Amino acid sequence: MKILCSDLEGTLAPEIWQEIGKEFKVPELDLTTRDIPDFDRLMSARMSALQKKKINYEILLEFLNSIEPFDGAKNFLDSLNNHYQIIIVSDTFYELCMPVIKKLGNYPIFCHHLKIDNGFISDYEKRQEEPKKNVVKGFQSMNFECFCIGDSYNDIQMIDQSSGAFIFAPQEIKDSRTDIINFDNYNDLRSHLLNE
Ligand SMILES: [Mg+2]
Repeated sequence: MKILCSDLEGTLAPEIWQEIGKEFKVPELDLTTRDIPDFDRLMSARMSALQKKKINYEILLEFLNSIEPFDGAKNFLDSLNNHYQIIIVSDTFYELCMPVIKKLGNYPIFCHHLKIDNGFISDYEKRQEEPKKNVVKGFQSMNFECFCIGDSYNDIQMIDQSSGAFIFAPQEIKDSRTDIINFDNYNDLRSHLLNE
């Protein structure tokens, strides 16, 4: 039994900050680490934009409950159940992703925490540095073999640590690592995983 380490946003569900940005018309939330590589600065921009618009966590949570996984994502995970133990490994936050995680079937997820003060997101706590790579290393230290899937640069650290594939990766990301096999649909990735 292998472990499948799957990214969440862009892989199984939409980008949560961008969905919030669209819903509440907060353009600052469209920015990603590709626009502001410094994660601290990016998070400060996100939190102050929410505070400026007086969007508290309660309002956010109501919207978060409406975010749906990608079509076929739950089915994809469930269909691998007999061959892989599935863990979702993400740079999102528990306080944002749990509604969509439940819709995906409540697979275990390793991500980060947000701090909520007086109803507003005030800070964040990263679980550890290089979290995706370290999750895989942790499993390997217990003699588990991992296969990792994701759509973006931050997934390469876990793919390189074991083996893996891109799914739904934008062209520039595929071009940056042509040695990593890539898929644009769950069916083909499923066939690959079942033949691994
Ligand atoms: Mg992603």
